[in-house]
Amino acid sequence: MDVAIIGGGAAGYFSAISIKENFPDATVVIFEKTRHPLAKVRISGGGRCNVTNGNTSISELAKAYPRGKALMKQALRVFNTKHTMEWFESRGVPLFTQDDMRVFPVSQDSSSIVDCLLDQAEDLGIVCEFWSGIERISKISNQLELHFTRQDLPPRNFDKVIIASGGSPRPEGLKWLEKLGHETVEPVPSLFTFNMPNESIVELTGVAVNPVLVSIPGTTLKTRGPLLITHWGLSGPVILKLSAFGARIFNEKDYNFELLVNWVDQTNHELVLDQLNATITGHSRKLLPNIRPFGLPDRLWRYLIQKSELSLTKQWGELGNRGMNKLASVLTNDMYSVSGKTGFKDEFVTCGGVNLESIDAKTMQSKVCKNLYFAGEILDIDGITGGYNFQAAWTTAYIAGKLN
Ligand SMILES: Cc1cc2nc3c(=O)[nH]c(=O)nc-3n(C[C@H](O)[C@H](O)[C@H](O)COP(=O)(O)OP(=O)(O)OC[C@H]3O[C@@H](n4cnc5c(N)ncnc54)[C@H](O)[C@@H]3O)c2cc1C
Repeated sequence: MDVAIIGGGAAGYFSAISIKENFPDATVVIFEKTRHPLAKVRISGGGRCNVTNGNTSISELAKAYPRGKALMKQALRVFNTKHTMEWFESRGVPLFTQDDMRVFPVSQDSSSIVDCLLDQAEDLGIVCEFWSGIERISKISNQLELHFTRQDLPPRNFDKVIIASGGSPRPEGLKWLEKLGHETVEPVPSLFTFNMPNESIVELTGVAVNPVLVSIPGTTLKTRGPLLITHWGLSGPVILKLSAFGARIFNEKDYNFELLVNWVDQTNHELVLDQLNATITGHSRKLLPNIRPFGLPDRLWRYLIQKSELSLTKQWGELGNRGMNKLASVLTNDMYSVSGKTGFKDEFVTCGGVNLESIDAKTMQSKVCKNLYFAGEILDIDGITGGYNFQAAWTTAYIAGKLN
């Protein structure tokens, strides 16, 4: 059996290895358009490679996929985060799980993951041909014929082909797959931070709060988690998660929208008022900035007092009902204008790609082109940050590699 893999990234290498473990006699060739295999793995996680997530509950893991949740829930039963950790550790890459559940190699160096995959491929006799971009595929009786972008490379026939060419930032990049009969979903970016050029809060750069609730008025989008104020706007896991779940909505709004921040993780306005009242009781002669009832960072607390149109020289006892309501409103419903986005340098992905309706979720085989399989980010599957995107690549590649 001759098998071709299109793309020498995480999903490409993992599916190639999976095939050779299932079919030791198969000939497996990876076609990679660049000279740099596993380039994204190398730069991933800020050079440390967040290889998977420490959570092992399949229903919890599936919730991390704004697109592809149902397929991942099914596929993770076959190969999940626990399997990924066992896979790398049993091949000589010790891993550790951070407090936030992100899993990295103990070496803190993505080269450990890259070298492991390259060594496994070499040991199994998998060949990777560089500068070999595939332009299109045609069906020739029971085989698939690959056509190269380079004119000097003649077409080659294979019994089975796995497409693992990664996310396509442009719709044109999916045309060759549409020509074979696949439905595609328009690609848009996911995992970005919010630019707020007209908001003075950016002066508080470096301030972090955990947890906060952020939401988008007029939508059901809402996330909770750690927030970081940057010199261009807002970032941190809570924003990246919101950007993933709202990727399409934000794209439709051309990245101009209103954002609500609840700084105290409390949606009940009355309870916030109760806490402010309790503070007055104990500290009526103290100045507002000197007592921080919700434990918010000092600089942020001062900023929010001023945003509530209250003086920093006011005493708690002078707040009155009006002042208390204003402060409670800003603490729970603080509105900002977002204008633009910034890519998150540690991790970003494209949502969209091959529509999951076009593939058999049990095998990753195309429903419209026999013997053609898909794995990785080319599929309309993407996760939030935390190792979920690599996990989707390992899971889909492992299943595709069974060649069922
Ligand atoms: C900066 C950055 C950091 C990241 N960090 C993390 C992280 O820490 N944890 C995590 O879970 N996720 C991370 N991600 C996301 C993760 O890297 C991707 O989800 C994952 O690499 C997808 O794997 P893939 O094999 O499907 O695609 P890719 O890694 O994109 O590989 C596709 C390969 O196919 C090749 N190719 C494309 N078209 C063709 C063609 N026509 N012919 C031949 N070859 C082709 C490409 O050159 C590429 O080598 C990060 C992403 C970025 C950009």
